[in-house]
Amino acid sequence: MKCYIPKYSGFCFGVALAVEAAYDHIGNSTFMFGEVVHNPAVISDLAGKGLGLINSLDEIPKGEKANVLIRAHGVSADTINEIQNRSLGIIDKTCPRVKKVHDIVADASGRGLDIVIVGTPNHPEVLGIAGWAGTRTVVVRDANDAEKIIPDRLFPNKGICLVAQTTQNEKKYEEVYRYCSGIFPYIEFNDTICDAATVRQEEIRQLAKIVDCVIVIGGKTSSNVTRLFEIASEYNSNTQHIESFAELDMTKIIDVKACLIASGTSTPEKSISQVVDHLKLFCLGNGKGFELIRGKT
Ligand code: SF4
Repeated sequence: MKCYIPKYSGFCFGVALAVEAAYDHIGNSTFMFGEVVHNPAVISDLAGKGLGLINSLDEIPKGEKANVLIRAHGVSADTINEIQNRSLGIIDKTCPRVKKVHDIVADASGRGLDIVIVGTPNHPEVLGIAGWAGTRTVVVRDANDAEKIIPDRLFPNKGICLVAQTTQNEKKYEEVYRYCSGIFPYIEFNDTICDAATVRQEEIRQLAKIVDCVIVIGGKTSSNVTRLFEIASEYNSNTQHIESFAELDMTKIIDVKACLIASGTSTPEKSISQVVDHLKLFCLGNGKGFELIRGKT
């Protein structure tokens, strides 16, 4: 079996920085503020090593000296203030690409512009971005949402600053931009979409059709992993989405000659190598050859 691992695989740099910080602060009275990565294996490993997980600052007992680890999604300015007011330490691992969006909306609000964020309304990253903008901020999912929400909430004769959640779909962002162009005299358009997820999607589109099976590894709640599974399934009907090697359906792999192993921005290298090892053992145990081919970075 030839086993292909694409060029873009495993953690993106933002998640890698946050996970590295989490491991560095084990045994240091540190709490993850929300899951540092959408991956159950990593979260349970960190929890087992004593890194607590909180979803609200109230979960830290009053008076306790502790650090709060901010994940790559970032948090609002109010949350940062609240952590400081409680005299807690901050380990801020907001991804630099998300931090840049915070800075854009804070600056534009300060100059009197209204803010339109294109993203999923209750997603933690979007809540964080909105928390650096002023009160005249709206969040829309797509152009339909924009049409319904914007005329009631913002003045059409004013200028706006337009930003997108970093994982937003480019097409939806352009559609909102087109709608806004028709009603606002001035728009500051910012290209805030991160290519860490989109380059993987493009690579999977190219590779999924030339192999006999695709294995997508990553958390079932991770939106970028789910998107990879959807794309791979469009091009290859023998596609499976697993969180760990133990879930592999080997009946779908028996006659496979070429296999693609895809992974999301939140999938650790360990999960990928466990799948590779499992496939290798299976092939060798069944008298077949095994060759691992990694895309060049
Ligand atoms: S996907 Fe992009 S913006 Fe999000 S954490 Fe990774 S590098 Fe940062």
